[in-house]
Amino acid sequence: MRTMSGATPFQCRLCHYRDYVAIGKSRLGARFYACADCSVVFMDPAKWSRPAHEQVTPNFAHLMPQSKKSSGT
Ligand SMILES: [Zn+2]
Repeated sequence: MRTMSGATPFQCRLCHYRDYVAIGKSRLGARFYACADCSVVFMDPAKWSRPAHEQVTPNFAHLMPQSKKSSGT
């Protein structure tokens, strides 16, 4: 998605800054960006713009071992 209007469709998840810079490219072709304000590094500006809770794996809770030991006295 590319906007030519000048408005960057990006908002830092951490500091909510709306600008970022491209800092490099890995050997595999993955690009890296950094927030222009807090310098956090991310790979996908669009993803990084979303709140963190949207990227939490929803089915993670059931993987945690439930220690429901009935230690009766
Ligand atoms: Zn930031």
